[in-house]
Amino acid sequence: MRILIANLGSTSFKYRLYRIDGKNESVVASGGFERVTDHALVINQALSDLVGQGHLSAISDIDAVGFKTVLGKNLSGCVDADDSVIDALEGFREVAPAHNPPYAEGIRQFAQILPEARLVALFETAFYQWVPEEASRYAVPKAWHDAGIQRYGFHGASHKYVAERSAELMGRDDVAETVRQLYINGPQENSGAPVRVVSFHLGGSSSVTGIRNGVAIGTSMGFSPQSGLPQNNRVGDLDSGAVPYAVKTLGISLEEAERQLTKESGLQGVSNVSNDLRDIRQSAADGNTDAQLALDMLVHSARKWAASFLFDLGGLDAMVFTAGIGENHPWLRAAICQGLEEFGIKIDPEKNAACIAEEAEISAADSKVKIFVIPANEELVLAREVQRKIA
Ligand code: ADP
Repeated sequence: MRILIANLGSTSFKYRLYRIDGKNESVVASGGFERVTDHALVINQALSDLVGQGHLSAISDIDAVGFKTVLGKNLSGCVDADDSVIDALEGFREVAPAHNPPYAEGIRQFAQILPEARLVALFETAFYQWVPEEASRYAVPKAWHDAGIQRYGFHGASHKYVAERSAELMGRDDVAETVRQLYINGPQENSGAPVRVVSFHLGGSSSVTGIRNGVAIGTSMGFSPQSGLPQNNRVGDLDSGAVPYAVKTLGISLEEAERQLTKESGLQGVSNVSNDLRDIRQSAADGNTDAQLALDMLVHSARKWAASFLFDLGGLDAMVFTAGIGENHPWLRAAICQGLEEFGIKIDPEKNAACIAEEAEISAADSKVKIFVIPANEELVLAREVQRKIA
């Protein structure tokens, strides 16, 4: 089966073509375009390149196209990307302005260009469909709740993969199978001891998710990706009283406040150096106390969220680090795990230091809680979900 994964930005289009036959998975080709002004043009170009380079004999060889959609109004899961998905994306255009419009447009165009292919949308919110209401609801007036203002959560594809792979690594194939089939069968009862995991997706944007038996019980991101941990340029959690106060006292418009909280906040805003953790670390090592504070805030916030899930889960069996920061920065993993021996969390310093961008167990032999690094590959996760959906 040939599955094309379409990554649509407001001025970019990237794609990866997978061939998946049973357990055989391979990337056949990949490519992309920047500074795009006409998405239909570059989609057609990409498809004719795939044929021209001999990866397909005709564009009709593509069985399915997968879209990692972010947030839909009144819709989530892994679903056929039809008009209901386009409506759901349009309904929350305001909340995810960088992501929803290009996906709505891209899905429309693929439907015209590849009318025979199955189009599938995997929402980033899908993994949180079963979070209990006391964790997903905000204490807002009912009218706000009815308007869709609740905690949704993001990075669902990444955290779901962590749920599956960590269960495999702990020898719990029953739980791994529950995760694989989650969007088809929903949560399943698993016999045996519960598997309780805290997953740290730490990258350009970051989130921490609590997982019991393969099902998310809560996550640090909320209504929009503008919440939870400090992100590269986004603020993360902020008291709702701060925005009206800033608008009134700084003399800025609501739109300008939103722009500053999205573009000039987070690690960039605090460090005043960069939004990239490598630069911030270097600057902190050179004595920049603002850079050091940005690092400390990231660690503190990650630990705070992990601690909340530790209580909700009633204990912990594994902690997992993934994404650009989680995979590449042993010092940060060590900082997050520091001083937690009392809770059975003990990192192995050598294994941790040696693990860069690869899958490994990095906990000490006598750590009650397993600590893993599991590299993220969100395109592959999406291709697998599409394959399961249409198999
Ligand atoms: P995104 O969330 O945009 O997909 P990433 O998951 O790559 O991006 O996360 C970006 C962050 O991860 C940056 O702060 C960067 O410092 C860090 N990072 C990514 N790759 C590496 C690497 N090879 N070495 C060190 N840090 C990295």
